[in-house]
Amino acid sequence: MGEFTLELNDDQKQVRDWLHGFAADVMRPAAAEWDEREETPWPIIQEAAKIGIYSLDFYAQQFFDPTGLGIPVAMEELFWGDAGIALSIVGTGLAAVGVLANGTEEQIGTWVPQMYGDATDVKLAAFCSSEPDAGSDVASMRTRAVYDEAKDEWVLNGTKTWATNGGIANVHVVVAVVDAELGSKGHASFIVPPNTHGLSQGQKFQKHGIRASHTAEVVLEDVRIPGHCLLGGKEKLDERLARAREKAKAGGERVKNAAMATFEASRPAVGAMAVGTARAAYEVALDYAKTRVQFGRPIIENQGVAFQLADMATQIDAARLLVWRASWMATAGKPFTAAEGSMSKLYASEVAKQVTAQAIQILGGNGYTREYPVERMHRDAAIYTIFEGTSEIQRMVISRALAK
Ligand SMILES: Cc1cc2nc3c(=O)[nH]c(=O)nc-3n(C[C@H](O)[C@H](O)[C@H](O)COP(=O)(O)OP(=O)(O)OC[C@H]3O[C@@H](n4cnc5c(N)ncnc54)[C@H](O)[C@@H]3O)c2cc1C
Repeated sequence: MGEFTLELNDDQKQVRDWLHGFAADVMRPAAAEWDEREETPWPIIQEAAKIGIYSLDFYAQQFFDPTGLGIPVAMEELFWGDAGIALSIVGTGLAAVGVLANGTEEQIGTWVPQMYGDATDVKLAAFCSSEPDAGSDVASMRTRAVYDEAKDEWVLNGTKTWATNGGIANVHVVVAVVDAELGSKGHASFIVPPNTHGLSQGQKFQKHGIRASHTAEVVLEDVRIPGHCLLGGKEKLDERLARAREKAKAGGERVKNAAMATFEASRPAVGAMAVGTARAAYEVALDYAKTRVQFGRPIIENQGVAFQLADMATQIDAARLLVWRASWMATAGKPFTAAEGSMSKLYASEVAKQVTAQAIQILGGNGYTREYPVERMHRDAAIYTIFEGTSEIQRMVISRALAK
């Protein structure tokens, strides 16, 4: 164990600067165009694949950084570039983590490469959990997975919604109910391989922000997948279900949501995305305030403007520190006794919404136009308080942890 430090090491600085270069030179100049087009920016994903940013190797390297800061540093830089394009690039990673966390080594080796494809033929992956009637309330999920023992196949039926890359992904990871009586303990995750009959894209949503990222419904009609597509395998699932039934029978003990611990570990990554967007808007506002002259002096010379920037800078740093703490805790295997993962996501996402709104104010009329990027950043920032658990859900998780 080294001494306590908040300084990035040389490897981390190198990765950060490399990503910053890509974000500044490739993503930023393309951001307005893909926001208007509301389409997946395939050419940019290809560029990212060519230099190794869109790849399992890159993601895994950041994921396994022993300090825990690999992912938050990478997310902050990419989302500083542009949130919509960045989500198109990292959306696959979110699905891949589902496989890395729950899959066997064979499943990881088989499916994760197919999620990314290669630089000449890039592919995407989608993680499908949310449903029209099961958003925050994950336990009311209805998509069913029924085992057909004779054929060793699972049959999936249901409708998923809000799936990032849903319908255009090569590989879909689908969460479904295998035992409805066990609530979220009766859920399991499945791989739906490329071109599986019965999986189709429903409505594609037109969104307020992160418009370069594809979000759609995924309809599953008698989707038959081989037994080996159950993540973790049947034996492990049967054991897990048996344990959950025992606990349910014993009564008393509230069945804990198994996904909760995973969420605590993954939420700081969303916090880091929010920090990236907030920092981007803050920098634009700071530059503008130094150069825009009214009443014979740069507007930053008014305390009313300067204090806003001081608060923005302070809040962004505070958000990053919460994100780094939670990311370090996840890697160090520390228990999130005070829901520190949720704290980081809650705070960073609220800061991003507020800071991007202040940036519009500081740019005045220009801030309100598409000539400047801050209105887009503000629209983008609104997603952070919604996905991966809304701010209200984060507060619920934090307050429950406190009340224990
Ligand atoms: C752009 C985008 C991309 C997404 N990507 C994915 C994806 O890839 N995969 C996936 O599975 N999902 C994805 N989601 C879904 C996302 O996680 C859900 O939208 C989110 O969990 C909220 O669910 P909901 O929209 O049904 O809102 P609801 O749960 O209906 O909530 C509506 C409002 O009620 C509040 N609320 C609900 N319950 C409570 C309570 N108990 N106490 C206080 N307030 C409460 C909420 O905070 C919110 O303000 C995505 C969503 C969006 C918009």
